[in-house]
Amino acid sequence: MLEDTIAAISTPLGEGGIGIVRLSGPAAVDITKKIFKSKKEEWSAAGGHRLIYGHIYDQAGQSVDEVLVGYMKAPHTYTRENIVEINCHGGIVPTKKILELVLGAGARLARPGEFSLRAFLNGRIDLAQAESIVDVIRAQTETGLKLAVAQLNGNLSRKISVLQEKLLGLLAQVEANIDFPEDDLEESTGEELVHLSGDLLQRIKDLIKGAQAGKIYREGIRTIIIGRPNVGKSSLLNALLRENRAIVTDIPGTTRDIIEEIINIRGIPLKIIDTAGLHETENIIEKIGMEKTREMIGKADLVLVLLDAGRSLAEEDLDIISYVGDKKAVFLVNKDDLSEKKIGVENMAGLAAGRPVLRISAKEGTGLSELEEKIFEMVMGGHLSVTDEVLVTNTRHKQALETAARHLEEAVAEIKRNVPVDVVAIDIRAAWEALGEITGSAVTEDLLNRIFADFCIGK
Ligand code: GDP
Repeated sequence: MLEDTIAAISTPLGEGGIGIVRLSGPAAVDITKKIFKSKKEEWSAAGGHRLIYGHIYDQAGQSVDEVLVGYMKAPHTYTRENIVEINCHGGIVPTKKILELVLGAGARLARPGEFSLRAFLNGRIDLAQAESIVDVIRAQTETGLKLAVAQLNGNLSRKISVLQEKLLGLLAQVEANIDFPEDDLEESTGEELVHLSGDLLQRIKDLIKGAQAGKIYREGIRTIIIGRPNVGKSSLLNALLRENRAIVTDIPGTTRDIIEEIINIRGIPLKIIDTAGLHETENIIEKIGMEKTREMIGKADLVLVLLDAGRSLAEEDLDIISYVGDKKAVFLVNKDDLSEKKIGVENMAGLAAGRPVLRISAKEGTGLSELEEKIFEMVMGGHLSVTDEVLVTNTRHKQALETAARHLEEAVAEIKRNVPVDVVAIDIRAAWEALGEITGSAVTEDLLNRIFADFCIGK
């Protein structure tokens, strides 16, 4: 499979200053030479890692675009193969035309993530690093970016490798006892193994514990703002967006009538499930109906329940609150700036059932930093902040760690029960293998396909 040369447009399709068509593989240079002419005819003879000015020509000898070709000679490249990047004008037609020519000259269209897959298969990066590339690209806050880059730099991989080495050490110690006739352990050896396994187990569990926070930084918190008409839902959304809007562009995969706005709360991407209605100061419930609202509350991780300080509690408020059920929620009594108030925080305690109730004014922006503080507290629930060196952010990694922990726990129990050591060895080996799935030292083709299918084309 690595025999062929792959190509794709690596920049987003659309209008931009430049667009890049990337090639990787043994024939990258030969293919480029068929369509690219430069005054420096010997451009590929030199060591590579340089930009060459020239033109791309079609089969009829017509100039297609004026370009800079970047040539990176293997093995010091992204994929460890020869790479050519054709920097052309960033438009849909030039990039597509050049891709077409490259494919006509012998390259094969790359599958999503195939450049990164090659980087992995050729040993330049491991699987956790490859996965972090998508996280870097899709980071929604600076904190998310920081975590992804740390993973790309191999911080998680190194930690996992250390754990794997220790497991191997443990395995060696266990196996050293297999050949003994009675096949069970000296008491002192058993105690030492229990101690060692316990220590390893704790380290794995610490990583699992951090994963909850990691996932939140990576994936964000789905949040919905609810309340009856005119309580100030869109005013609140706008007030939060003014200060903390994280991403302005549309998020792919969301439909037109449900837009996600992403707000950055201390590094946590709060994905506000905004509906066209909410955004345009119409009423979400009128617009999309009670059933849909319920469904959306069901999908949310966090609900912001809005009430109007200027109006007494109505049946509608109670209905809405009943939909919240026992979800994570913050109750907000809005319009705190009004001089005459019909409801206050104290009326709400019972309905909030232990969840925080805050006074805010969306109009004047008061109470919003308290709201952010509460949200952070609630979703992080006392979890660590990002000063910790390694945070697992990926659910797949978390699951692998959990599998490893299960096997190790089993091993400890077996040692304690004096089960024959070859059985113990099986569990320790299984723990080692589970960790290997994270870095890809033990990985199936099916898993690889699933992981890389999630990448964009050209990456
Ligand atoms: P929605 O229907 O829940 O989205 O409510 P809107 O955000 O459209 O607000 C309804 C009305 O309440 C508008 O006239 C807002 O200006 C007003 N409003 C919203 N928040 C406040 C607030 O904190 N104080 C005051 N006095 N008025 C507010």
